[in-house]
Amino acid sequence: MNISIPTLLRIKPNAIYKLGKYLRKESFIRVAVFYGTGLKEMLKEQITISFDSSEIQTVHEDTINSNAVEDIFKTAFSLPGKVDAIVAIGGGKVIDYCKYIAFILKLPIISVPTSISNDGFASPGASLLVNGKRKSQKAQIPYGVVIDTEIIRKSPDYYTYSGIGDLISKYTAIFDWKLAYRAVQEPVNDFAVLISTNAVDVMVNYKSKDIKDLSFLRHICGCLVTSGVAMEVSGSSRPASGSEHLISHAYDMKAKKPSLHGLQVGVATYAVSWLQNNPEHETIRSVLEQTGFVDYVSKNPLDKTDFIEAVKYAPNVKENYYTILTDKNNLDKLIDFVNNDSYFNRLVK
Ligand SMILES: [Zn+2]
Repeated sequence: MNISIPTLLRIKPNAIYKLGKYLRKESFIRVAVFYGTGLKEMLKEQITISFDSSEIQTVHEDTINSNAVEDIFKTAFSLPGKVDAIVAIGGGKVIDYCKYIAFILKLPIISVPTSISNDGFASPGASLLVNGKRKSQKAQIPYGVVIDTEIIRKSPDYYTYSGIGDLISKYTAIFDWKLAYRAVQEPVNDFAVLISTNAVDVMVNYKSKDIKDLSFLRHICGCLVTSGVAMEVSGSSRPASGSEHLISHAYDMKAKKPSLHGLQVGVATYAVSWLQNNPEHETIRSVLEQTGFVDYVSKNPLDKTDFIEAVKYAPNVKENYYTILTDKNNLDKLIDFVNNDSYFNRLVK
Protein backbone atom coordinates (compact mmCIF):
# COMPACT_ATOMS: atom_id res chain seq x y z
CA MET A 1 0.00 0.00 0.00
CA ASN A 2 1.41 3.35 -1.04
CA ILE A 3 -0.16 6.19 0.92
CA SER A 4 0.64 9.88 0.47
CA ILE A 5 -0.54 12.54 2.84
CA PRO A 6 -0.24 16.33 2.58
CA THR A 7 3.18 17.30 3.93
CA LEU A 8 2.76 21.05 3.94
CA LEU A 9 -0.33 22.08 5.85
CA ARG A 10 -1.13 25.64 6.91
CA ILE A 11 -4.60 26.75 7.98
CA LYS A 12 -4.69 30.24 9.43
CA PRO A 13 -5.71 33.85 8.85
CA ASN A 14 -3.65 35.66 6.19
CA ALA A 15 -1.81 32.48 5.16
CA ILE A 16 -1.97 33.75 1.55
CA TYR A 17 0.69 36.36 2.34
CA LYS A 18 3.07 33.58 3.40
CA LEU A 19 2.49 31.28 0.44
CA GLY A 20 5.86 32.26 -1.09
CA LYS A 21 7.65 31.54 2.18
CA TYR A 22 6.00 28.09 2.46
CA LEU A 23 6.96 27.24 -1.13
CA ARG A 24 10.57 28.31 -0.62
CA LYS A 25 10.82 26.19 2.51
CA GLU A 26 9.94 23.15 0.37
CA SER A 27 12.40 24.30 -2.36
CA PHE A 28 9.59 24.91 -4.85
CA ILE A 29 11.08 27.91 -6.63
CA ARG A 30 9.67 27.69 -10.17
CA VAL A 31 5.91 27.26 -10.02
CA ALA A 32 2.95 27.13 -12.41
CA VAL A 33 0.01 29.03 -10.92
CA PHE A 34 -3.61 28.37 -11.84
CA TYR A 35 -6.51 30.54 -10.69
CA GLY A 36 -10.22 29.79 -10.64
CA THR A 37 -12.51 32.24 -12.44
CA GLY A 38 -12.41 35.73 -10.90
CA LEU A 39 -9.71 34.91 -8.37
CA LYS A 40 -6.73 36.39 -10.15
CA GLU A 41 -8.37 39.81 -9.92
CA MET A 42 -9.01 39.21 -6.24
CA LEU A 43 -5.71 37.70 -5.10
CA LYS A 44 -2.99 38.46 -7.64
CA GLU A 45 -1.66 41.39 -5.60
CA GLN A 46 -1.26 39.36 -2.41
CA ILE A 47 0.31 36.46 -4.30
CA THR A 48 2.77 38.77 -6.08
CA ILE A 49 3.87 40.40 -2.81
CA SER A 50 4.29 37.01 -1.21
CA PHE A 51 6.17 35.45 -4.16
CA ASP A 52 8.44 38.47 -4.68
CA SER A 53 9.53 38.57 -1.08
CA SER A 54 10.54 34.90 -1.23
CA GLU A 55 11.90 35.06 -4.78
CA ILE A 56 9.44 32.53 -6.16
CA GLN A 57 9.18 32.56 -9.96
CA THR A 58 5.87 32.11 -11.71
CA VAL A 59 6.85 30.29 -14.90
CA HIS A 60 3.26 29.82 -16.08
CA GLU A 61 0.00 31.49 -15.13
CA ASP A 62 -3.50 30.64 -16.22
CA THR A 63 -7.16 31.09 -15.30
CA ILE A 64 -9.26 27.95 -15.46
CA ASN A 65 -12.93 27.86 -16.32
CA SER A 66 -13.32 24.32 -17.63
CA ASN A 67 -12.11 20.97 -16.37
CA ALA A 68 -12.43 19.07 -19.62
CA VAL A 69 -9.80 16.36 -19.74
CA GLU A 70 -8.55 17.38 -23.22
CA ASP A 71 -7.76 20.91 -21.96
CA ILE A 72 -5.90 19.44 -19.01
CA PHE A 73 -3.67 17.31 -21.24
CA LYS A 74 -3.01 20.25 -23.56
CA THR A 75 -1.99 22.48 -20.66
CA ALA A 76 0.07 19.77 -18.96
CA PHE A 77 2.23 19.19 -22.02
CA SER A 78 2.68 22.87 -22.83
CA LEU A 79 4.14 23.79 -19.44
CA PRO A 80 7.79 24.90 -19.42
CA GLY A 81 10.35 22.15 -18.88
CA LYS A 82 11.38 22.86 -15.34
CA VAL A 83 8.48 23.35 -12.95
CA ASP A 84 8.96 22.49 -9.29
CA ALA A 85 5.29 22.53 -8.29
CA ILE A 86 1.75 23.34 -9.42
CA VAL A 87 -0.19 25.88 -7.36
CA ALA A 88 -4.00 25.79 -7.58
CA ILE A 89 -5.86 28.80 -6.21
CA GLY A 90 -9.65 28.73 -6.06
CA GLY A 91 -12.53 26.30 -5.78
CA GLY A 92 -13.10 22.67 -6.69
CA LYS A 93 -12.76 23.06 -10.46
CA VAL A 94 -9.26 24.56 -10.61
CA ILE A 95 -8.02 22.27 -7.84
CA ASP A 96 -9.30 19.15 -9.65
CA TYR A 97 -7.77 20.46 -12.89
CA CYS A 98 -4.40 20.91 -11.21
CA LYS A 99 -4.55 17.60 -9.31
CA TYR A 100 -4.82 15.87 -12.66
CA ILE A 101 -1.97 17.86 -14.24
CA ALA A 102 0.14 17.00 -11.22
CA PHE A 103 -0.82 13.35 -11.61
CA ILE A 104 0.13 13.30 -15.31
CA LEU A 105 3.42 15.12 -14.82
CA LYS A 106 4.23 13.55 -11.44
CA LEU A 107 4.65 16.96 -9.86
CA PRO A 108 3.65 18.09 -6.38
CA ILE A 109 0.51 20.21 -6.19
CA ILE A 110 -0.21 22.85 -3.58
CA SER A 111 -3.89 23.37 -3.12
CA VAL A 112 -5.00 26.83 -1.99
CA PRO A 113 -8.79 26.67 -1.62
CA THR A 114 -10.58 30.00 -1.43
CA SER A 115 -13.85 28.37 -0.36
CA ILE A 116 -14.53 25.07 1.38
CA SER A 117 -17.56 23.67 -0.39
CA ASN A 118 -16.39 20.02 -0.24
CA ASP A 119 -13.51 17.77 0.80
CA GLY A 120 -11.97 17.66 -2.70
CA PHE A 121 -9.13 20.11 -1.99
CA ALA A 122 -7.28 17.48 0.00
CA SER A 123 -8.51 14.25 -1.58
CA PRO A 124 -6.78 12.03 -4.16
CA GLY A 125 -9.71 12.03 -6.64
CA ALA A 126 -10.62 14.61 -9.29
CA SER A 127 -13.97 15.22 -10.90
CA LEU A 128 -13.33 15.90 -14.60
CA LEU A 129 -15.33 16.30 -17.78
CA VAL A 130 -14.73 13.37 -20.10
CA ASN A 131 -16.63 13.64 -23.40
CA GLY A 132 -18.90 16.21 -21.77
CA LYS A 133 -19.75 13.91 -18.84
CA ARG A 134 -18.61 14.32 -15.25
CA LYS A 135 -16.34 11.52 -14.17
CA SER A 136 -14.42 10.84 -10.97
CA GLN A 137 -10.82 9.99 -11.72
CA LYS A 138 -8.00 8.90 -9.52
CA ALA A 139 -5.49 11.75 -9.42
CA GLN A 140 -2.99 12.88 -6.86
CA ILE A 141 -3.47 13.91 -3.25
CA PRO A 142 -2.06 17.43 -2.78
CA TYR A 143 1.47 17.69 -1.42
CA GLY A 144 0.40 20.87 0.33
CA VAL A 145 -2.81 22.52 1.49
CA VAL A 146 -2.68 26.21 2.39
CA ILE A 147 -5.92 27.77 3.59
CA ASP A 148 -6.29 31.42 4.50
CA THR A 149 -9.23 31.36 6.92
CA GLU A 150 -9.78 35.11 6.43
CA ILE A 151 -10.49 34.38 2.76
CA ILE A 152 -12.82 31.52 3.72
CA ARG A 153 -14.66 33.77 6.17
CA LYS A 154 -15.26 36.31 3.42
CA SER A 155 -16.40 33.68 0.90
CA PRO A 156 -20.18 33.34 0.38
CA ASP A 157 -21.86 31.47 3.26
CA TYR A 158 -23.36 28.81 0.98
CA TYR A 159 -19.87 27.46 0.23
CA THR A 160 -19.16 26.92 3.91
CA TYR A 161 -22.61 25.36 4.44
CA SER A 162 -21.79 23.05 1.55
CA GLY A 163 -18.53 22.04 3.28
CA ILE A 164 -20.45 21.35 6.50
CA GLY A 165 -22.97 19.22 4.58
CA ASP A 166 -20.15 17.24 2.97
CA LEU A 167 -18.48 16.69 6.34
CA ILE A 168 -21.58 15.63 8.29
CA SER A 169 -22.19 12.91 5.66
CA LYS A 170 -19.30 10.85 7.07
CA TYR A 171 -21.73 9.43 9.64
CA THR A 172 -24.03 7.94 7.00
CA ALA A 173 -21.14 6.98 4.69
CA ILE A 174 -19.41 4.94 7.40
CA PHE A 175 -22.75 3.33 8.32
CA ASP A 176 -23.23 2.24 4.69
CA TRP A 177 -19.68 0.90 4.49
CA LYS A 178 -20.23 -1.30 7.54
CA LEU A 179 -23.56 -2.38 6.10
CA ALA A 180 -21.77 -3.39 2.87
CA TYR A 181 -19.38 -5.48 4.94
CA ARG A 182 -22.26 -7.33 6.60
CA ALA A 183 -24.30 -7.74 3.40
CA VAL A 184 -21.65 -8.47 0.77
CA GLN A 185 -18.42 -8.82 2.79
CA GLU A 186 -16.85 -5.69 1.35
CA PRO A 187 -13.69 -5.18 3.42
CA VAL A 188 -13.69 -2.19 5.76
CA ASN A 189 -10.46 -0.33 6.48
CA ASP A 190 -10.74 0.32 10.24
CA PHE A 191 -8.12 3.04 10.25
CA ALA A 192 -9.90 4.97 7.50
CA VAL A 193 -13.12 4.64 9.52
CA LEU A 194 -11.35 6.04 12.57
CA ILE A 195 -9.93 9.01 10.65
CA SER A 196 -13.23 9.81 8.98
CA THR A 197 -15.26 9.51 12.17
CA ASN A 198 -12.77 11.65 14.07
CA ALA A 199 -12.97 14.29 11.34
CA VAL A 200 -16.71 14.75 11.69
CA ASP A 201 -16.62 14.40 15.50
CA VAL A 202 -14.18 17.30 15.78
CA MET A 203 -16.58 19.61 13.95
CA VAL A 204 -19.59 18.32 15.88
CA ASN A 205 -17.94 18.70 19.27
CA TYR A 206 -16.35 22.10 18.67
CA LYS A 207 -17.85 24.68 21.03
CA SER A 208 -18.72 27.27 18.40
CA LYS A 209 -20.96 26.64 15.40
CA ASP A 210 -20.61 30.18 14.04
CA ILE A 211 -19.38 30.03 10.43
CA LYS A 212 -17.82 33.48 10.80
CA ASP A 213 -15.70 32.34 13.78
CA LEU A 214 -12.13 31.88 12.48
CA SER A 215 -11.40 29.15 14.95
CA PHE A 216 -14.50 27.12 13.96
CA LEU A 217 -13.53 27.60 10.31
CA ARG A 218 -10.00 26.37 11.04
CA HIS A 219 -11.51 23.24 12.57
CA ILE A 220 -13.84 22.63 9.60
CA CYS A 221 -10.91 23.05 7.18
CA GLY A 222 -8.80 20.60 9.17
CA CYS A 223 -11.67 18.11 9.25
CA LEU A 224 -12.14 18.33 5.48
CA VAL A 225 -8.40 17.70 4.99
CA THR A 226 -8.65 14.66 7.28
CA SER A 227 -11.64 13.38 5.35
CA GLY A 228 -9.64 13.63 2.11
CA VAL A 229 -6.78 11.70 3.71
CA ALA A 230 -9.18 8.93 4.86
CA MET A 231 -9.95 8.29 1.16
CA GLU A 232 -6.23 8.04 0.39
CA VAL A 233 -5.75 5.62 3.29
CA SER A 234 -8.58 3.32 2.20
CA GLY A 235 -7.84 3.68 -1.52
CA SER A 236 -11.56 4.30 -2.13
CA SER A 237 -14.23 6.92 -1.56
CA ARG A 238 -15.99 4.66 1.00
CA PRO A 239 -15.00 6.57 4.17
CA ALA A 240 -16.40 9.78 2.68
CA SER A 241 -19.26 8.71 0.48
CA GLY A 242 -22.32 6.48 0.97
CA SER A 243 -25.96 6.51 -0.11
CA GLU A 244 -26.26 10.24 0.65
CA HIS A 245 -23.59 10.88 -2.02
CA LEU A 246 -25.36 8.58 -4.49
CA ILE A 247 -28.54 10.64 -4.01
CA SER A 248 -26.59 13.86 -4.56
CA HIS A 249 -24.94 12.49 -7.74
CA ALA A 250 -28.36 11.33 -8.97
CA TYR A 251 -29.79 14.78 -8.17
CA ASP A 252 -27.01 16.32 -10.30
CA MET A 253 -28.24 14.18 -13.19
CA LYS A 254 -32.01 14.49 -12.63
CA ALA A 255 -32.59 17.97 -11.26
CA LYS A 256 -33.58 20.90 -13.44
CA LYS A 257 -31.36 23.09 -11.30
CA PRO A 258 -28.73 21.20 -9.27
CA SER A 259 -27.41 22.98 -6.19
CA LEU A 260 -23.95 22.77 -4.57
CA HIS A 261 -22.59 19.27 -3.91
CA GLY A 262 -22.35 19.62 -0.12
CA LEU A 263 -25.76 21.27 0.22
CA GLN A 264 -27.37 18.31 -1.58
CA VAL A 265 -25.27 15.85 0.39
CA GLY A 266 -26.20 17.50 3.71
CA VAL A 267 -29.92 17.33 2.91
CA ALA A 268 -29.61 13.70 1.79
CA THR A 269 -27.60 12.86 4.93
CA TYR A 270 -30.45 14.02 7.14
CA ALA A 271 -32.92 11.77 5.28
CA VAL A 272 -30.61 8.75 4.99
CA SER A 273 -29.61 8.93 8.67
CA TRP A 274 -33.31 8.58 9.52
CA LEU A 275 -33.62 5.56 7.21
CA GLN A 276 -30.50 3.97 8.71
CA ASN A 277 -31.83 4.54 12.20
CA ASN A 278 -28.37 6.04 12.57
CA PRO A 279 -27.45 6.82 16.19
CA GLU A 280 -26.18 10.22 15.00
CA HIS A 281 -29.47 11.27 13.38
CA GLU A 282 -30.25 13.83 16.10
CA THR A 283 -26.64 15.09 16.11
CA ILE A 284 -26.86 15.63 12.36
CA ARG A 285 -30.09 17.59 12.72
CA SER A 286 -28.71 19.69 15.53
CA VAL A 287 -25.41 20.56 13.76
CA LEU A 288 -27.18 21.44 10.52
CA GLU A 289 -29.51 23.65 12.52
CA GLN A 290 -26.93 25.33 14.77
CA THR A 291 -24.58 26.24 11.93
CA GLY A 292 -27.38 27.90 9.94
CA PHE A 293 -27.37 25.22 7.22
CA VAL A 294 -31.09 24.45 7.71
CA ASP A 295 -32.01 28.11 7.68
CA TYR A 296 -30.07 28.70 4.47
CA VAL A 297 -31.43 25.64 2.67
CA SER A 298 -35.00 26.32 3.77
CA LYS A 299 -34.70 29.69 2.01
CA ASN A 300 -33.09 27.98 -1.02
CA PRO A 301 -34.72 24.53 -0.95
CA LEU A 302 -34.02 21.60 -3.23
CA ASP A 303 -36.80 20.54 -5.61
CA LYS A 304 -38.91 17.86 -3.93
CA THR A 305 -39.99 16.05 -7.13
CA ASP A 306 -36.40 16.00 -8.42
CA PHE A 307 -35.17 14.79 -5.03
CA ILE A 308 -37.59 11.85 -5.13
CA GLU A 309 -36.42 11.03 -8.66
CA ALA A 310 -32.84 11.16 -7.37
CA VAL A 311 -33.64 8.75 -4.52
CA LYS A 312 -35.16 6.29 -7.03
CA TYR A 313 -32.15 6.55 -9.33
CA ALA A 314 -29.45 6.58 -6.61
CA PRO A 315 -28.83 2.77 -6.47
CA ASN A 316 -27.90 2.88 -10.18
CA VAL A 317 -25.30 5.62 -9.89
CA LYS A 318 -22.35 3.37 -8.99
CA GLU A 319 -21.99 -0.28 -9.85
CA ASN A 320 -21.31 -2.74 -7.04
CA TYR A 321 -21.65 -0.12 -4.34
CA TYR A 322 -23.79 -1.61 -1.59
CA THR A 323 -25.67 0.90 0.58
CA ILE A 324 -28.90 0.99 2.52
CA LEU A 325 -30.63 1.92 -0.74
CA THR A 326 -29.67 -1.36 -2.41
CA ASP A 327 -32.66 -2.96 -0.64
CA LYS A 328 -35.62 -1.79 -2.74
CA ASN A 329 -37.99 -1.72 0.27
CA ASN A 330 -35.85 1.01 1.75
CA LEU A 331 -36.37 3.21 -1.31
CA ASP A 332 -40.13 3.25 -0.66
CA LYS A 333 -39.57 4.00 3.03
CA LEU A 334 -37.28 6.90 2.21
CA ILE A 335 -39.66 8.34 -0.39
CA ASP A 336 -42.43 8.18 2.18
CA PHE A 337 -40.19 10.12 4.59
CA VAL A 338 -39.38 12.72 1.94
CA ASN A 339 -43.08 13.18 1.24
CA ASN A 340 -44.27 13.35 4.81
CA ASP A 341 -41.63 14.35 7.35
CA SER A 342 -42.44 17.90 8.34
CA TYR A 343 -38.88 18.85 9.39
CA PHE A 344 -37.39 17.47 6.18
CA ASN A 345 -39.95 19.40 4.18
CA ARG A 346 -38.25 22.62 5.24
CA LEU A 347 -35.32 21.54 3.04
CA VAL A 348 -37.25 20.58 -0.11
CA LYS A 349 -40.16 22.32 -1.80
ZN1 LIG B 1 -18.59 14.84 -1.06
